[in-house]
Amino acid sequence: MSKNLTTRAEDYSKWYNELVVKADLAENSGVRGCMVIKPYGYAIWEKMQGELDRMFKETGHTNAYFPLFVPKSMFEAEEKNAEGFAKECAIVTHYRLTNDPEKKGKLIVDPEAKLEEELIVRPTSEAIIWSTYRGWVQSYRDLPLLINQWANVVRWEMRTRLFLRTAEFLWQEGHTAHATRVEAIEESERMMHVYADFVENFMAIPVVKGLKTESERFAGADETYCIEALMQDGKALQAGTSHFLGQNFAKAFDVKFTSKEGKLEHVWGTSWGVSTRLMGALVMTHSDDNGLVLPPNLAPIQVVIVPIYKTDEQFDAILEEVNKLVIALRKLNISVKFDNRDTHKPGFKFAEWELKGVPVRLAIGPKDLENGTYEVARRDTLSKEVVSKEGIEVYLQDLLETIQKDLFTRAVDYRTAHTTEVNSFEEFKDVLENKGGFVAAHWDGTAETEEKIKDATKATIRCIPLDRVDEVGKCVFTGLPSKGRVLFAKAY
Ligand code: AMP
Repeated sequence: MSKNLTTRAEDYSKWYNELVVKADLAENSGVRGCMVIKPYGYAIWEKMQGELDRMFKETGHTNAYFPLFVPKSMFEAEEKNAEGFAKECAIVTHYRLTNDPEKKGKLIVDPEAKLEEELIVRPTSEAIIWSTYRGWVQSYRDLPLLINQWANVVRWEMRTRLFLRTAEFLWQEGHTAHATRVEAIEESERMMHVYADFVENFMAIPVVKGLKTESERFAGADETYCIEALMQDGKALQAGTSHFLGQNFAKAFDVKFTSKEGKLEHVWGTSWGVSTRLMGALVMTHSDDNGLVLPPNLAPIQVVIVPIYKTDEQFDAILEEVNKLVIALRKLNISVKFDNRDTHKPGFKFAEWELKGVPVRLAIGPKDLENGTYEVARRDTLSKEVVSKEGIEVYLQDLLETIQKDLFTRAVDYRTAHTTEVNSFEEFKDVLENKGGFVAAHWDGTAETEEKIKDATKATIRCIPLDRVDEVGKCVFTGLPSKGRVLFAKAY
């Protein structure tokens, strides 16, 4: 199979788009800004969902489902949230089509079927969910509410790109309600840690945990926690967000409870989400010029076995060996595929599985049968070795763990090498232009300076890292005092 991928050095953006399509993850659709997620891509998303869902349930959450449409008046209730999303809304105004009297076979919107109130296709579900919570919460005994939903949302994005930014995307959104401010803050921090744990240990992508500045905060939140990752082209990607909503939505939707002390109080809230954008993060962190590189924890196929044979007898002998191995690997929960297609040559199969990022490839031919061996190839390093079939299951199990760890280490090393402290605006611009990555710089804390830096360099403040050390310094732009460094980067 011919890969013909544009290389990352040639054109990173083109490489990404081609890879997503050629590795069979997704493709553009006939609908503006909306993608088709193909079975292979969806299988990876399902793995992400499975693990995240497990983690949400382990932290006490349950799933529910709320409607796709939000009546406009309901949407407007929390003003900041409404204002923040207003420019990206898809709106339903009519509920029926009718035959076009002027053109046979064409349909027009039936002017008679205008909705009394427009419906907003949810860009996020705080409004619909908090309007529901109103009926669910009366007393402190009803709290906390710890609910998650897996859903699609629509944001009318202007510049879209497969997975990273689409007009419709899949995500999960957690929406919780609490009796106290402290509890709600704890919850938003907890979910940020859950996300970081998932992205680092499952996706092998290192992240910085931090707080967004006021201008980057979620509309309607008092505080936004985030995890930020660094892609191979030196651009940052917001990988997940967790918002402390204060009492903003409780006040907008009149959600009150009677406290233990018998006082009527507004409920405290959080919301948190990760989306199919994580698929983009996965591709952009690990993959190379030969195609996708999947961390074993997320690979729908972890080990692929390719037989090399000329005669039917040789194939039968290989099949016998492979059948035993497949059973042994499945017992160890390793997902394995025997690529026994007789319509394709081994070379084609090698290239295909390389493109699709399968972590480990085994090849077995007549020589291996004689010697009791397999050829084992690693996708991440492209290295090969000949391994005895004795104990190969355990060998492969260890190898998959090693690959998972190595991918993470490699990404951490890249990030370390691409995080630069700068102390002047000249240096700031120089690093951004010539090296990219995170730039750790002092900032005077004002939205005005943040905006000016963005206008001058396209870099935004990705976050105020939670683990930053207090360090007195001067803002790289204005020279005004600063209490610590923040991370700037150009971002997706
Ligand atoms: P938010 O509700 O804006 O905090 O976003 C929740 C999650 O969805 C974050 O992880 C975002 O990075 C992600 N996200 C936001 N907009 C898009 C989009 N257009 N396509 C894909 N993911 C998105």
